[in-house]
Amino acid sequence: KNRVNILGTEFDNFTAKQFHKYLDDDLDLKANRFIVTPNPEIVLSARKDSNFSKIINNADYVIPDGIGIIKGAKSLGTPLHERITGFDTLEYLISAVNRKQLKLYMLGAKPEVIEASAKKIKKQYPQVNLVGYHDGYFKDDAPIIEEIAAKKPNVVLVALGSPKQEFFIDKYRKQANAIWIGVGGSFDVFSE
Ligand code: UDP
Repeated sequence: KNRVNILGTEFDNFTAKQFHKYLDDDLDLKANRFIVTPNPEIVLSARKDSNFSKIINNADYVIPDGIGIIKGAKSLGTPLHERITGFDTLEYLISAVNRKQLKLYMLGAKPEVIEASAKKIKKQYPQVNLVGYHDGYFKDDAPIIEEIAAKKPNVVLVALGSPKQEFFIDKYRKQANAIWIGVGGSFDVFSE
């Protein structure tokens, strides 16, 4: 794999176009994938937390979310093709699920935010099969994971903030052959 190490985090070096092609193939193959989208803040926190760092570097895709990563890569003499944000990736995945008429599960954010996000998906992406969603303020993981396993989504969006969402995905991703991605505060933006 063609990866560029920035202060311990290993970023994939590809264009958004190449990345999107991989995601389309992954969806067609029902591959189990984990996408992380580190910004400079996450790179710094991973330096202080070796478990978090391991989880990031073992993910299938590590993409540079933020111009700070692109600038850092350039100044280290190992430039990356381009910035690819988590938000753009979220939008690409939803539109790919819509185009391919696949199943989506959304987890995280406050109840009113996830409710509004689900409504917006149904309205803007009518061919998405939204098989379930849940807010991010639950006590027990088990019922959520059982639901995800039973509904067999193709994409699982997890908005619990970092590093909580990455630990969650790393722990449970084998329960569904989906593309899993931590999307941080994206539902708050998406639902507006
Ligand atoms: N969140 C959640 N459960 C929690 C903590 C956070 O669902 O236990 C949600 C929160 O409502 C927000 C998102 O996680 O929608 C992450 O927000 P933040 O901007 O803090 O995270 P970042 O984007 O910086 O990772």
